[in-house]
Amino acid sequence: MHDNDVLTVLASPSCRAEKSYIFDWVLGEILGFNYRISFSPTHRAAITLALPGKQTLRIQDQFFENADQQWLNPQTLPAHNSVVDFFITPKIRTHRSVSIPIHVPNLFPSINPTDTEEDDCCLALDIDIFGALFFLVSRYEEAVNPTRDQHDRFPSGASILGQLGLLDRAVGNEYIELLWAAMISCWPGLKRKHRTFRSLPSHDIDHPSLFAGPIQRVIRNLAGTLIKQKQPMVFMNRAANWLRFKLGNCDVDPFDQIDWLMEQSELSNTKSAFFYIPEKTHPLDASVSLESPVVKQQWLRIDQRGHEIGYHPGYMTYANQAAIQSGADRIRSLLQQYGIREREIGGRQHYLRWQTPTTARNWEAAGLAYDSTLGFADRSGFRCGVCFEFPMYDVEERRPLKLRQRPLVVMDSTVTADHYMGLGLSSDAYNYIKSLKNECRTFCGDFTILWHNTELLTLQQKDFYRSILSA
Ligand SMILES: [Zn+2]
Repeated sequence: MHDNDVLTVLASPSCRAEKSYIFDWVLGEILGFNYRISFSPTHRAAITLALPGKQTLRIQDQFFENADQQWLNPQTLPAHNSVVDFFITPKIRTHRSVSIPIHVPNLFPSINPTDTEEDDCCLALDIDIFGALFFLVSRYEEAVNPTRDQHDRFPSGASILGQLGLLDRAVGNEYIELLWAAMISCWPGLKRKHRTFRSLPSHDIDHPSLFAGPIQRVIRNLAGTLIKQKQPMVFMNRAANWLRFKLGNCDVDPFDQIDWLMEQSELSNTKSAFFYIPEKTHPLDASVSLESPVVKQQWLRIDQRGHEIGYHPGYMTYANQAAIQSGADRIRSLLQQYGIREREIGGRQHYLRWQTPTTARNWEAAGLAYDSTLGFADRSGFRCGVCFEFPMYDVEERRPLKLRQRPLVVMDSTVTADHYMGLGLSSDAYNYIKSLKNECRTFCGDFTILWHNTELLTLQQKDFYRSILSA
């Protein structure tokens, strides 16, 4: 922000790299400030923000102080029952730029609250905003807490936000708004960087084609239309299309919803990203090779309409650097072979399998631009506490990564499938997804939604997806 003065951030040198990283994201990237950091060993228990010739703003610093000497120790995690509500005072409330609740959780309440307020202090916030934001976006707790589900994934119930019932609130965004409200309460006239809400649909193309895949799958699918769906007309139609496909007509594949998805995105003034599995690493991976002419045609159509092709590493890759690299190389070489221009590649791990921080480190090493895996498979909402994109952090090597995270807010099956939230395509499912979308809208954030091409086989499924895009 060119018309703001340079902000000074005064902090203790504990967790220097982590503090620099989170200041850079929050104060630099999100709020758009020029700032300089001054680390001083005498400045403990608070982070002070200062502008030349003006009173200062003090913010509690607890997590970093505590974690510095016992990094990744379970004792540094917030306990469910130690979290306290922080009451947003009327003075700050009148300066809120967006609607945030009157109470926000303080994940790291101070053990010894400081009562020595400096004379030049305008406002002291007894809530650890920067520590909690770092804790949430770095996924620190996932590197400490070993709980995993049957696919080796960190489940929502093991997360602190899950335990507090806060996954539907973008709590991290609330912290940023609280910080901003405190800043303009101290320094009226300050300006922040402008943001706009984005709807970002993406599609994991686990199965690019039904008819080009294994015959058992085709038979199972056809039988399903008769036995499960009891739709003899759909059966007849699909069986006839299978024959047509076998005779060389590729436009009749029920899994090929690429054009339909691009059309829906264009009607909502956005673009779709289509993520493909390049190498089979497990029986749960893709059934059709990327060398298949069917896939080549899909890629050319996606590229022609200016949508995005990305990477969906297979089931066994999430903790294997060589496998991530090899799949990324394969995607790049196929793009080149098909005459599709070279650009940055992003994507998502198959089955949302993710190991903090190894997977991010491996994505970075493979030169990938962004990942969008970080939502819980069993529960929609805000796994990282935020609806903003952010640079990732390696909590083991204790360094920032260039890799960006676009946290996943909604995956289709998370909401609809019986083994997850079990809401089907009901109005409850629609209202729930719409409320998450509105939460992203509130903060001018990103509503990232994953919808599979294989979940669009019926008119009802298509209507539901369309209604979410226009919600
Ligand atoms: Zn997948």
